[in-house]
Amino acid sequence: MQAEQRIKFAIEFAGMNLAKVGMRPQELAALKDGISQFLYGARGEVESFADRGGIIIMPVLNQDELVDSWPLENFIELQKDCRRMLTGFAHKLGIASLPISAGFGFLALPNTGWHIPTITAGIRSAFLMLCWLLLVGESGVRVRICPEDACGHRVFYQASRRQKYCSRNCAVRASMRRMRNKSVVKSVVEFSRKPTKKHGKARKV
Ligand SMILES: [Zn+2]
Repeated sequence: MQAEQRIKFAIEFAGMNLAKVGMRPQELAALKDGISQFLYGARGEVESFADRGGIIIMPVLNQDELVDSWPLENFIELQKDCRRMLTGFAHKLGIASLPISAGFGFLALPNTGWHIPTITAGIRSAFLMLCWLLLVGESGVRVRICPEDACGHRVFYQASRRQKYCSRNCAVRASMRRMRNKSVVKSVVEFSRKPTKKHGKARKV
């Protein structure tokens, strides 16, 4: 997974309706797979350190901290923190301190003298830390907030610099509103310019 894909995944995750009644087992399995790839990368995929936020996440070897054994409630709690982080970032307001629990370490690369920074953390802390590192990196500059009220000011990943709205729906709605406002202003201006009969007569005199 590239850094950009990871950020897009975090945005998608934040927007999911996890609390809906009757979430299908396949949907939960797909979510777990996505979280797993976000944290540790896809099986067999070679990733750069930048794509991993400059660190390697080491899982906590505890049955409760395996993505597969995490219940839906935990994902819902993680989603709340993920939303707070993304919204605070996209609004350019910053975020208050989100507590995490993690262990720092180094992996020594044999015969190179190099060391790779590692973070050993449970799913929640690892997810938030990686998300935080990626947001402040190069790919984070494209995380934006939609100015439309109707979508609830959704966070989105800007596909191009010209994209101002989260979706085509929001872009069309805003454009229609601008056009309506223009035509209202135009008719008000025209109405105020139109001479009334009284004024017409007054000019002749
Ligand atoms: Zn929108």
